[in-house]
Amino acid sequence: MKHFRDILNSSRTTFSFEFFPPKTAAGAAKLFDHIVKLEALGPSFVSVTYGAGGSTRQLTRELVHKVREETGIATVPHLTCVKHSEEEIRKIVAGYAERGIQSILALRGDAPANEDHDWGSDRFSNASELVYFIRKVSDEYVGKNGFPGFGIGVAGFPEGHPGTPNRLEEMDYLKAKVDAGADYIITQMFFDNRDLYDFRDRCEMSGIRIPIIAGIMPIQTISGMKRMSELALGMRFPGPLLRMVRRTDGSHEAIQRVGTHWATEQSRDLLDHRVAGIHFYTLNTSGATREIYKTLGAVNSDQLGNGSMLEF
Ligand SMILES: Cc1cc2nc3c(=O)[nH]c(=O)nc-3n(C[C@H](O)[C@H](O)[C@H](O)COP(=O)(O)OP(=O)(O)OC[C@H]3O[C@@H](n4cnc5c(N)ncnc54)[C@H](O)[C@@H]3O)c2cc1C
Repeated sequence: MKHFRDILNSSRTTFSFEFFPPKTAAGAAKLFDHIVKLEALGPSFVSVTYGAGGSTRQLTRELVHKVREETGIATVPHLTCVKHSEEEIRKIVAGYAERGIQSILALRGDAPANEDHDWGSDRFSNASELVYFIRKVSDEYVGKNGFPGFGIGVAGFPEGHPGTPNRLEEMDYLKAKVDAGADYIITQMFFDNRDLYDFRDRCEMSGIRIPIIAGIMPIQTISGMKRMSELALGMRFPGPLLRMVRRTDGSHEAIQRVGTHWATEQSRDLLDHRVAGIHFYTLNTSGATREIYKTLGAVNSDQLGNGSMLEF
């Protein structure tokens, strides 16, 4: 099996899908049906989010191991350091190393909803510190049972980091994550590709030279748009996209069609601009992602990234 770093460093564009852990057994079974459908697209990897509060944290680990062991797809757990001690993080990271996981997406995380969180009480106060610690634990495990070390991912924000309004400082902090040992960046969702190209340019100027994987979310519902705006503070829906949404009758089907169309156009343009990778926020469904591949004429990720060898 390829090491995660080889997946990143091959010349091929990576395609990855993000899921969140369902809270019920029925939800988990339904998600697995979607994962099996998406497996046919040959993703480079899939990732599983980590709850800020605590109730779903164990579910992340369970889903990560299930996907990895039942499908063989490289699976990347998200890990946040909010409300975690050093010992807890060490245990989680070591557990992943022992079970053959090769990459972790390291994040600071947000404060749990409806909780007045004391940020000073966390052992790790930002993602850089977490990256540094994961790299340290990873090095301790390298070579044990063939563990090759983690590829570590971090978050990037093309529209600006919500916690760092100073746009020069935010690049220093992103560079600090890279210097602490990050191997790749996955971006927050964005709906105007110019934000991604400008972010890529600013990374280059800041000496950040690791793959930047572009986060794409096909809009599904108006309530989902509202929820995302609250969760991903600062996220911007461009006027032309809002106009398209407003032209519909608001039905689920119409919003889905508009959202998938917009995400398809974004993906096509990103591929033309040779992005390192595209990460689809699937919202635990498979329809929109499969539709994007289909509209772009590709049956799998290999073809989407490299084209077929079709001759004219
Ligand atoms: C791809 C992606 C996946 C995500 N997955 C999850 C998930 O699974 N679970 C979840 O809860 N959230 C997730 N998030 C959201 C993320 O946790 C929040 O946006 C969070 O507010 C910031 O996380 P970060 O890792 O970017 O933090 P950081 O980059 O660490 O920034 C956090 C704060 O620390 C400050 N800071 C950063 N670096 C330094 C430094 N070197 N020195 C001093 N101060 C510094 C910043 O100014 C900021 O205020 C995800 C986001 C993205 C883009």
